[in-house]
Amino acid sequence: MGEGILSLEPVVGAALGDPGALLRDAGLERAGDALRIGGIAIDAIAADVGTPSYLYHAGAIRQRFQALGDAFAGRRIKIHYAVKANANLAILRLFRDMGAGADIVSGGELARARAAGFPNSDIVFSGVGKTTVELAEAIEAGIGSINIESAEELDVIERLVEGRSVTAPVRLGLRVNPGVGAETHPYIATGVSGIKFGIPVELVTALGQRISVNPRLRLVTLAVHLGSQLLDPEPIAQGAAVLADLVQALRGRGIRTIEALDVGGGLGIRYRDETPLDPVALATALAPHADRSGLALHLEPGRYLVGSAGVLVTKVLYRKSSGGKRFVVVDAGMNDLVRPSHYQAYHAIVETRRSPRGTIVADVVGPVCETGDFLALDRLVPDVQPGENLAILGAGAYGFVMASNYNTRPRPAEVLVDRGRYALIRPRETVAQLMAGEVVEPFARETPS
Ligand SMILES: *Cc1c(COP(=O)(O)O)cnc(C)c1O
Repeated sequence: MGEGILSLEPVVGAALGDPGALLRDAGLERAGDALRIGGIAIDAIAADVGTPSYLYHAGAIRQRFQALGDAFAGRRIKIHYAVKANANLAILRLFRDMGAGADIVSGGELARARAAGFPNSDIVFSGVGKTTVELAEAIEAGIGSINIESAEELDVIERLVEGRSVTAPVRLGLRVNPGVGAETHPYIATGVSGIKFGIPVELVTALGQRISVNPRLRLVTLAVHLGSQLLDPEPIAQGAAVLADLVQALRGRGIRTIEALDVGGGLGIRYRDETPLDPVALATALAPHADRSGLALHLEPGRYLVGSAGVLVTKVLYRKSSGGKRFVVVDAGMNDLVRPSHYQAYHAIVETRRSPRGTIVADVVGPVCETGDFLALDRLVPDVQPGENLAILGAGAYGFVMASNYNTRPRPAEVLVDRGRYALIRPRETVAQLMAGEVVEPFARETPS
């Protein structure tokens, strides 16, 4: 759940608004003809680790985290990085080392967050469909907050804590559906009513009271998450206003355990020519609601922290023309980066080595047997030749994590670039790994009856 971008494919041949800004967001620069990431030529890394590969720039990630923290300087704020955006352990460790917490949406992500070394108390568990086993694990770990999304989920938690000691109550949040619409792709708008996320406002106080009368439970946050790729802070502020009102209502009923307003993630980035969400504007918009409630703020950004900091490097395999259209066939497909075909998302594509050949208008397509297997449609792209590489920008969030093995394609390698060095943080999958566990003749040993 929770990603994507609204921009549909542009008018035919539309060029980038400001390619310089996109390159800067990613920590990319051109040195001579070579495109470099963190000072290293992308082609050199590609020659070493192969293609397609995801490259992440640690410096660009740190910069985003710092910018967000600086915008809220002087306020009580905790940033929980949304693990689902990019769950590689090395990326998680980077965030842990900067003092971030982790926002998780599954038991698998709980295991990752703990493997990366996040203290349990810095982990927040969101999600509309947590299983009993996942909830039991989170309770056992004593995580910072389990954000409940329904009365039925609270039923399960109440059963799980029966008989437990009351000295360490399980810390809970209520994920509220504030009924606030956010302008984004319909798959990723999560704060409007009539969708699966969150608890309707009118049920919040009743659930808050149920929690407060149980000595084994403690209500510590109210949370919203309005959607993804939001460029305007206003809807997030509206969500915070709803939370602050609810805090007042709960206090009116004697509930004074709430520690923070969790305003979720969804901070938008530049994929083409958008103005990214400005963290200072966000801080300004949230301040009155934090002040009114007297509570700390929690943020759960994923995309904002990692999206711009990653590129997918892919090699050109063929060029062809058909039906009056031109195609650039590359070795990355929809299984490697699904956002273009799933959300009609726009990803800028640049050459890794400047060529004198100019540009063409073409569809950039992958090898997967689907007409929907494209990375760009009717796009002005460099006039690349087979064997040359392209860098797909903005691939740091919801890239590798959404990759699949469709067509029995091993998932790409992942590489972290930091301080003039690079390291493989996940080797390319092998076909043998993909077949592991499969049974060719499941009934071979059965005797016929
Ligand atoms: C997906 C999600 C996030 C992160 O969303 P981004 O758009 O990547 O910032 C934060 N909180 C919750 C509850 C989510 O589901």
